[in-house]
Amino acid sequence: MENVLLFFIDGLGIGTRGPHNPFDGLEEVAPLAIFQAERTLVPFDGVLAPTDACMGIAGRPQSASGQTTILTGINAPAAIGYHKQGFPNQALLDIIREHSIFVQLKKAGIHPIAFANTYTRAFFESRPRWVSATTAAVEAAGLSFNTLPDLIAGRAVYQDFTNAVLIERGEEVNLRTPAEAGECLANIVAQNRFTLYEYFITDKIGHAQDREAANRVLPMLARFIRTLLAKLDLERSTVILTSDHGNIEDLSVRNHTLNPVPTIVWGKGREMIASRTRSLVDITPAIVERLTGAVRN
Ligand SMILES: [Zn+2]
Repeated sequence: MENVLLFFIDGLGIGTRGPHNPFDGLEEVAPLAIFQAERTLVPFDGVLAPTDACMGIAGRPQSASGQTTILTGINAPAAIGYHKQGFPNQALLDIIREHSIFVQLKKAGIHPIAFANTYTRAFFESRPRWVSATTAAVEAAGLSFNTLPDLIAGRAVYQDFTNAVLIERGEEVNLRTPAEAGECLANIVAQNRFTLYEYFITDKIGHAQDREAANRVLPMLARFIRTLLAKLDLERSTVILTSDHGNIEDLSVRNHTLNPVPTIVWGKGREMIASRTRSLVDITPAIVERLTGAVRN
């Protein structure tokens, strides 16, 4: 059975070469080392589609509207007239509740579908007033959240896939190497028709302009992705990696960038999906078509 993984990375754009870009000169960051105006060979036969995150709306692209667009296929900045930072407002929540990828796949009878990330008990005990686009999408579709027992049993991955952040907070879980985390995520992908995984430390590092953290984290993120791809059966699986806006690729500025983001597609249907991906609105329709068989190649 064919399956799709949407691997969302917050704050990853296609930057230029130079000392402002932590990917430039950093070894071991394939497949993420992609530079403007350079033809890049992506490992595991990945196909790169530079993707517009501005979507015709002035200003810097932001997380709430960008993630809403990725997860629904609707141009959220155009719908509300601006790029919305942080967490979705009511207008974006309405779009997510009605049109999220999870809702669309459920309606089409695609099952099982999974959100691979892990939530801690603290999140449910003191639930924040506003939640991320992904959290809202998962809740609206009636999917269950993974918690620490799922992580320990190998059924989930934490957003910091090494679990180091969890251990710092006093949770009793084991550290995972990037390779172990990649294998775990590959197993989850193989057991579901559609899986979403999201990673957002990249955006935090970009805002902090933290070169040391970038040098430490980016090679681990790349190793995680390479192991994931090595463990997947790419004859059956499609992996779509994308981002909501640029940030970490330019550490000379604290803000998000106007750069295109890299959508990288691996496995089944990669050429077709990449060739049709121009902006963030194209991600969800590609996944729905892939899984419902509306387009076959
Ligand atoms: Zn940000």
